[in-house]
Amino acid sequence: MSGPRTPSDFWISDVTYVKGIGPTRARFLKSQGIETTADLLLNLPRRYLDRSALPTVRDVLPGMTVTVMGKILATGVLAGKKKRFEAILSDGTGHIALLWFAGYRWIQEAVKKGVILAASGEVTQFFDDKQIVHPELEFIEDVDAEDLTHTGRIIPVYDGGEQWDKVGLASRNIRRIIKPLVDGPVATLPDYLPEEARKSRNLVSLSEAISQAHFPDSAAHAEDARKRLAFDELLFLEMAMANRRATIDSRHEGRACESPRILTNRIIKNLPWPLTKAQERVSDEIAGDLKSPRAMRRLLQGDVGSGKTIVAALAMSRWIEAGSQAALLVPTEILAEQHHHNLLKLLKPAGVTPTLLTGSRSAPIKRATHAAIASGEAKLVVGTHALLSGKVEFADLGMVVIDEQHRFGVAQREALVAKGRRPDLLVMTATPIPRTLAMTIYGDLDVSVLNELPPQKGTIKTVWRSEEAREKIYDYIRDTTAKGNLVYIVYPLVEQSEKLDLKAANDAYEDLTKHFPDRKLGIVTGRTPADERADTMSRFYSGALNILVATTVIEVGVDAPDARLMIIENAERFGLSQLHQLRGRIGRGPGQSVCVLMLGGRPTPIASERLETMCRTNDGFEIAETDLRLRGPGEFLGTRQHGIPEFKVADLLRDAAMIEPARQTAFALAAQPRNTNAPLWAEWQRRFGQVSKHLNAG
Ligand code: ADP
Ligand code: MG
Repeated sequence: MSGPRTPSDFWISDVTYVKGIGPTRARFLKSQGIETTADLLLNLPRRYLDRSALPTVRDVLPGMTVTVMGKILATGVLAGKKKRFEAILSDGTGHIALLWFAGYRWIQEAVKKGVILAASGEVTQFFDDKQIVHPELEFIEDVDAEDLTHTGRIIPVYDGGEQWDKVGLASRNIRRIIKPLVDGPVATLPDYLPEEARKSRNLVSLSEAISQAHFPDSAAHAEDARKRLAFDELLFLEMAMANRRATIDSRHEGRACESPRILTNRIIKNLPWPLTKAQERVSDEIAGDLKSPRAMRRLLQGDVGSGKTIVAALAMSRWIEAGSQAALLVPTEILAEQHHHNLLKLLKPAGVTPTLLTGSRSAPIKRATHAAIASGEAKLVVGTHALLSGKVEFADLGMVVIDEQHRFGVAQREALVAKGRRPDLLVMTATPIPRTLAMTIYGDLDVSVLNELPPQKGTIKTVWRSEEAREKIYDYIRDTTAKGNLVYIVYPLVEQSEKLDLKAANDAYEDLTKHFPDRKLGIVTGRTPADERADTMSRFYSGALNILVATTVIEVGVDAPDARLMIIENAERFGLSQLHQLRGRIGRGPGQSVCVLMLGGRPTPIASERLETMCRTNDGFEIAETDLRLRGPGEFLGTRQHGIPEFKVADLLRDAAMIEPARQTAFALAAQPRNTNAPLWAEWQRRFGQVSKHLNAG
């Protein structure tokens, strides 16, 4: 094999052809997902050292956390109370000591007289000398570098980590590998982005972006470069979405739901309350989709308690009336039971009996249910993951609804969709996320928002308390239950310590039973057998139990209007969205409800912010935004689950304003024949081939 010949060959050629990368380094890079020169060039610096912005050694003072750059004048191992390695760094304005007390064998090898480096850390004073203990180092040039002026003003820092250092790919080595590329072939690199798209969005060229991202002339140049490359990432993602949407539309043509709306009207007439304006509006949006021959792909966002269930029920009833079946997929058995119970109340008077399918039902019941689904006799099926089983075959599935959709991956969603003949799809989520983000993650879906809560709901007051307040809290539990109101006590359950947590919940249940001898208590956890759980829940709903001890299994779907108090134990261990979901279990009836967040230990600053946010607001949107900020978009959105790759450059918060333009550009480009923009699609394929296969599965 020979190396790359043309500039675009260079881009896609194997990293092995890059000077300075031999077989070992290439193997390592490939393990890090870096296969081609393009991957290498798109592996941007983590940060930059801007020499003009660095303080001089003369100016740094004890107490400051700084980065100083200079040359090592002398080194030595000093004996004393504690043996230490010391290096003296000078930048011409003064000198400062760098100190290591232990584990300095490697440091001693690298920090030699004449070496130029940048050292970061807190400056302390030792008699008359300034020093930094255990500084972080960035090596700038080799021992033989003449003087500092030979290195650029802004120095890229790659710090990939220890593994990178081990194969000789420490930051300075990467600089040495990238520099000749930037000075050479990158200059003539063709741009895959059509010029018109680039100019209209005010983006720099690919060649400019790559060279300025690595060796920027100024901080502003670096940011322009980053922006361009971030735009590309968003664009490629949206191109995948546009593609996916086009594939679905082409596959799903020609199925309109024709229903006379008699059933729907009957259901609405039977409701004990009028629909909210938002419920009416969203129902109309959905009805429009159902009537159209294009398959519906819609996301319904609505805060906890906004009344999504009835909206879904009305939509499903249209398909049922049109002679097809509908399926509602939910993440937990409790939620399935709850929905089944509610839908029975809503639909039975109108002549439709929903069917329940969960994993824990007995084999004969499951078999009978499968048969009823296959024959079409079961019109509306509510179920858990059991619905996804190969044994479940629908006679004619017209509509799929997925509740709490963040609990499911794209593959699961599509597995259910695949059981129908081009069914309409409605996915629902209680996690309201900013529109721009919804667009990215659910890029192929239309979005509806229930932005109004039903009236006359109770109010919820949230407080946090520590252990000293426990007796008072118990008094409050006694008062609350004396008035006939119900109480939840929730224990955390995290996967890593599931056993311990379950034990904690069970122990607490025993203690509480002793503490409240004249009250009736029940417990549900993920381990409680289904029939026992159903029994406990219905006794709680009916008021036969006063206090329900539970793990997070009650996070969704539990609806007891008489519950007025929720105690969340070890609240600092819960995530923000989870706390909000849990709290949504109270305040479902009129009057004042109280949520007490009990601290099990001293919370971290982030945990404190979560708890304070909970006490400050009930607004799901505000809570979601805080959660997004605290956790970062990757984890918050569960992007992996949606088949969306982690962005290398783009930051969904920082680059939010670019999402919409990227989406518009992508959809416009996707509407043109592919050969008009062949290089762009080639690059899209290169980056997105794998992902898009996954996104388009099903
Ligand atoms: P979520 O959006 O959290 O799934 P649900 O559909 O479970 O909300 O509804 C929450 C509660 O509000 C339920 O008890 C439901 O009966 C009630 N509800 C729904 N719509 C209305 C309405 N328009 N007016 C009054 N109560 C409503
Ligand atoms: Mg719900």
